[in-house]
This record gives sequence, C-alpha cells and structure tokens, in this order.
Amino acid sequence: MQPRLILEHTVYVLAQLPTTQLPHIAFAGRSNVGKSSLINALAGQKDLAKVSATPGKTRSLNFYRSSDETLYLVDLPGYGYARCSKAEQAAFGRLIEGYLAKNAALRALVLLLDCRLEPQKLDMELVCFAGQQSIPLMPVLTKADKCSLRERSQRQKDWAVLLDGRAPLLCSAAKGFGVAELWDGLRRFAVTGA
Ligand code: GDP
Repeated sequence: MQPRLILEHTVYVLAQLPTTQLPHIAFAGRSNVGKSSLINALAGQKDLAKVSATPGKTRSLNFYRSSDETLYLVDLPGYGYARCSKAEQAAFGRLIEGYLAKNAALRALVLLLDCRLEPQKLDMELVCFAGQQSIPLMPVLTKADKCSLRERSQRQKDWAVLLDGRAPLLCSAAKGFGVAELWDGLRRFAVTGA
C-alpha cells in the first residue's frame, strides 16, 4: 500500500525553512503542469494539494511528510506563469533556487514536464541549474493520458536527447498510471540517493 502524505510546513521565505530529520525530494514544474494533481495521486488523497483551474496560485514551499517516515516531498512553487509580473517571477525563482542550492537534505529533484508540450526553455534552465548544483534529476512527463502512445514515445525521445539519454517516466494523475513507479523512484532516491 502506498504511504499517505501529511502537510507539515508551509514556507514563504527562505528564513522559515524548517530543520527536518528525513531526506527531501523536491517537486518542480511550470505552473499548470499537473503538480498538485500528481501529489494528490501519490498520496491517494483527493484534496491534499490544491488543484487550480487558475494557474499560478501556489507561492509557497509545501513540505509533506510521508506516513512511512521515509521522506519529505517538497512542493516548490510552479514557475513561468505568464500573468505574474516579472518581479514576482523573479521572487519565485529566487525562492526555488535558494531552496535547491546547498540543501544537504535534498536527494533529488522531480522535474515535471507536460507530455503535450515540446521541451521548454524554462524547464531546461532548471535542468542546467540542477546540473550545476549536482542535484540528481528525476524527469516525469505529466498528463500522459492526453497524448497518443506515439506522442508519448516521441516526447520521451525528445527529452532523452536533452537529459543525457534518460527518458522521463510517463505519468497520469487522472488515470493513475506511473504513480507506483514514481513512488519507487522517490524511495530509491531517499534511501540510496541514486
Ligand atoms: P499545477 O498548477 O501544476 O499544480 O497543476 P494542477 O494539478 O492544478 O493541474 C492543472 C490542470 O491540469 C487541472 O485542470 C487538472 O485537472 C489538469 N490535470 C492535471 N493532471 C492531469 C492528468 O494526469 N490528466 C489530465 N487529463 N488532466 C490533468
């Protein structure tokens, strides 16, 4: 049975970062990529993370502890929401990068990528940043149920070229596929760091 997730801390500025005992796995992606839906699917809880019809609402880092006490899932603010001002987007960027940089508890960054979209510049910027910081990446294609099998495999190939041959995991919060494999990956990173 999959563990539940319990929201334990909500952080708006880096000075509020909690001291925690468990390894962290961070979740990042463009606004509206399906991050909240996937967190709810991972937890098997419908309303844990807010699913927004209006994107760009999450401005905090949300720390979820897994009920099996293996890890914290750290939900980072969605980036790239066009209706946010440049100053707001820069502030989110600083919050995200400030958290990711030099965080001893962080074991991996789960990078959520919309299966329907070709690789985007902002996602590649985060890939580069993670590389510079030596943070292991776990790429995941979201909303895969919205794509044909052919589109899914094409998108995996597109990303593999950009990610040193690693094809992202295909997931659908709506249909539930990929979720068990994602849990396996999270645990593996939390325990072994690889
Ligand atoms: P967030 O902004 O990244 O947290 O994205 P949300 O989880 O709020 O999802 C944005 C929109 O995409 C919502 O309308 C969701 O219902 C929809 N969505 C999210 N995941 C899936 C999925 O796996 N399949 C489909 N078909 N729609 C999804």
